[in-house]
Amino acid sequence: MAVKQFKAESKRLLDLMVNSIYTNKEIFLRELISNASDAIDKSYYRSLVDENVNFNKEDFFIRITPDKEKRTLTITDTGIGMTEEELENNLGTIAESGSLAFKSENDIKDGVDIIGQFGVGFYSAFMVSDKVIVKSRSVDSDKAYKWESQGAEGYTIEPCEKETAGTEIILKIKENTEDEKYDEFLDEYKIKSLIKKYSDFIKYPIKMMVKKSRPKKDNDKEQEEYFEDETLNSMVPIWRKNKNELKPEDYDQFYMDKHFGYDKPLRVIHSSVEGVVSYKTLLFIPARAPYDFYTKEFEKGLELYSNGVLIMEKCADLLPDYFSFVQGLVDSADLSLNISRELLQHDRQLKFIAKRIKDKIKSELLLMLKNDREKYIEFYNSFGKQLKYGVYSDFGANKEVLQDLLMFYSSTEKKLVTLDEYVSRMKEEQKYIYYAAGENIEKIEKLPQTELVKDKNFEILYFTDDVDEFAIKMLMKYKEKEFKSVSSKDLGFDSDDKESKKETEENKELFDFMKEVLKDKVKEVRASNRLKTHPVCLANEGEVSIEMEKVLKMMPSNQNIKADKILEINTSHEMFKAIKKAFAEDKDKLKMYSNLLYDQALLIEGLPVDDPVQFANNVCSLIK
Ligand code: ADP
Ligand code: MG
Repeated sequence: MAVKQFKAESKRLLDLMVNSIYTNKEIFLRELISNASDAIDKSYYRSLVDENVNFNKEDFFIRITPDKEKRTLTITDTGIGMTEEELENNLGTIAESGSLAFKSENDIKDGVDIIGQFGVGFYSAFMVSDKVIVKSRSVDSDKAYKWESQGAEGYTIEPCEKETAGTEIILKIKENTEDEKYDEFLDEYKIKSLIKKYSDFIKYPIKMMVKKSRPKKDNDKEQEEYFEDETLNSMVPIWRKNKNELKPEDYDQFYMDKHFGYDKPLRVIHSSVEGVVSYKTLLFIPARAPYDFYTKEFEKGLELYSNGVLIMEKCADLLPDYFSFVQGLVDSADLSLNISRELLQHDRQLKFIAKRIKDKIKSELLLMLKNDREKYIEFYNSFGKQLKYGVYSDFGANKEVLQDLLMFYSSTEKKLVTLDEYVSRMKEEQKYIYYAAGENIEKIEKLPQTELVKDKNFEILYFTDDVDEFAIKMLMKYKEKEFKSVSSKDLGFDSDDKESKKETEENKELFDFMKEVLKDKVKEVRASNRLKTHPVCLANEGEVSIEMEKVLKMMPSNQNIKADKILEINTSHEMFKAIKKAFAEDKDKLKMYSNLLYDQALLIEGLPVDDPVQFANNVCSLIK
């Protein structure tokens, strides 16, 4: 049976092409400039393989010429040009890529980075134009041809005049509509910014005559306008330069130009990787968090380039959330892009790169911690919270990656320390890594619960961020050592434990009575093993601590989760005598004392008392 050919409905196809592939009209300029660059690259390639062809660098450039009156935007290149047949094949057939064919027919050498491959980019011109005219002359011919089309209706080709080889593309820019301001594509400033954004690292100069003004020669009080040729792109991407060619100022300048941050970056990571997937990266660790960093508005991601052309402004998949503060870019020729070149086809290469980047960032941060602690602390003050969120989120999946990057304030060192440093200092008899949570260092310093641990000369880590305790609960252990809150029921001191158990036994009836008074507010009243000078404190049993209860209370999804609280009494404190006396002689008084002690314990924790008026009255009744 005869196999029939599919008939593509070219009108529909063109319409699809123009209106469905691209999300952004402005990329037409990127596409046409990329084609021009490819055309010059082909000439360059010719010069490499054909002795008769010279490549004189000055002769190769791309020119942009806007004309507001005629509403035309012209893109000229001095590249290889097209013959009549090539115009027919490459521009007359949708999805025919002369560039892809060129790549497969030739053994492409270093320094040639052909961008085109899909054969659709050219048609993006119709997103902004009513009519497109292409005048081209091939280097292999002395005849020039003009291709002209108004889009769906088809195209014409006829001979024309053109003095030199290369291609000139004239766009008749559409009239403004209510939704679209096509005018802007004729605007000098807009054109400049589009080239900066998408085509800054095209290897060949992109030139434009730019309007300037200067004082008049004969009368310097008046200004005169004149035009000057300007190259709009920087051409050589800084990340493709050799590291030893670059000074720290060069990186800082690039960082500023790119608006990655307002201050100088804390650290620059510039690397070039060759292998299964080859790529170059230039990453920055900012000094300070952007104002919206810890909000939903913040968008993480790295710029993604393929052959010097910007493909994606913020490629989120390249960075894990816990390193979302990193700024910079990745450039790789090995990415398989989708047809619009706005997205990637497979994420296999991307995953590979992302994994390597993640490892690199981690090792750089560890280096910084080791060799430049002051800087690391500056970094940690800005972004430490994000690392801690990272430990906590995804059910702790990334805790191994992050644990060595964490720091907490230490009760003994009076500064930030790492978990490794803590563990290496642990006393022989010390079982746990102790921590205390509170609003700030000053408040934690005064917490009664820290008394006994401090008395034993054990170091305590102070948790002042909301996320700290949640992260540590996820981490559970560091180097086989469990974490222990100074408020937890059992501190792991056997002898003191026995002591307080005995005290609790001996005063069982009294404590039971107090528990009766406080009802559900506490789970238990007992003698404390952790208090030395303070009369009372709250301890806590179970997974949710009192600090966590506070944090959960502030969350929008507040489910009223409460910590199991234990009221601990210091039985060697003066006031305990009065308690005992009241228990024997005046139960009403003990009721009041019980409430007072509980309220006190709440206040120490920074929790509101349940009934402030009653509390005030109780205090007053003591002032007699
Ligand atoms: P792609 O660039 O992906 O190949 P395009 O639709 O952008 O697809 O271009 C189609 C083809 O037209 C190119 O492959 C190239 O052969 C040819 N072409 C486009 N613009 C030019 C140009 N300025 N000079 C020479 N050839 C060009
Ligand atoms: Mg193209």
